[in-house]
Amino acid sequence: KRTPFIAGNWKMNLDHLQAVAFTQKLAWSLKDAKHDPADAEVAVFPPFTDIRSVQTLIAADNLPIAYGAQDVSAHDSGAYTGEVSGAFLAKLECAYVIIGHSERRTLHGETDADVNAKVLAAHRHGIVPVLCVGETAEDLEAHGPSAVPVAQLRAALENVEGAKGLVIAYEPVWAIGSGQAATPQQAEQVCEALRGVLRDLFGDEVAGETRVLYGGSVKAANIASFLREPNVDGALVGGASLDIDEFSSIVRFKK
Ligand code: 13P
Repeated sequence: KRTPFIAGNWKMNLDHLQAVAFTQKLAWSLKDAKHDPADAEVAVFPPFTDIRSVQTLIAADNLPIAYGAQDVSAHDSGAYTGEVSGAFLAKLECAYVIIGHSERRTLHGETDADVNAKVLAAHRHGIVPVLCVGETAEDLEAHGPSAVPVAQLRAALENVEGAKGLVIAYEPVWAIGSGQAATPQQAEQVCEALRGVLRDLFGDEVAGETRVLYGGSVKAANIASFLREPNVDGALVGGASLDIDEFSSIVRFKK
C-alpha cells in the first residue's frame, strides 16, 4: 500500500517570513482536520532561502509536514557559484528534492543527463528525488501520450539504484499553470506506463512501493478524481499550493 503524497511546489514564491506563516497555518489546518499521516503525506517545497526557517518551525513542534528543496547541484562542493549541494540539504534534514521540473528543463537548459546526475547526487546524500517528467503539447501531438515521459524517466534513472528511494511526478507541460489539467484517465495512462519502467528497471517490489504523482493545474475540485486512479498516488501542486484555503482543501481530499 502506498501512502498518498500531496506536495506543494512553491516555485519562486514566499520569502522566509511568509513561508513560516504559511507552514504554521497549514499545521493548524491539519490539526483542525485531525489529519492522519497514514492517510496522506503532506510536503512543501520552499525556495532555498526559506528551508532553514521551515525546518526550525517543523522540528520545534514536530509538525506532520515533510519538506524539501526545488533543485540540487549535481556536484557535492567546489567552484560552482550559485549552486546548492545535496550535502547542505541533507544537513537541513530535507527528506526530498524536486529534480527535473519542466521549468528547469526549459528555462535553464537542463538535459536528461543533468537530471540523471542530480538524481545520483540526491542519493549520495540520502535525499529522495521527486523526479519530474512530462511532455509538451507538441510532443503529445507527435509521439502520443507516454513516449516522451517514459524516455525521460529511463534517461534520468541511468545507474540509479531504486532501493535508495524515488518519487516520480508526471507533469504534462501543457497542463502546468494553464488551468487545463489532464483528465484522470490521461494521468492514469502515463503513470501506469511510468510504473512499468520502474518494474522493468527495479522489479515488482520497488515498482509497487514507489509513489507516482500527477501535477498540472491540480486544485481542490479535481484532486479526488486523480487519486481514484489506481496508479496515481498523489499530486505535485503549484499555484494552488500558495493559497492556504485551497491547499488545505487539497490535503483533505476524500476519494
Ligand atoms: P500548477 O499546479 O500551477 O499547474 O503547477 C504544477 C507544477 O509545476 C508543480 O510542480
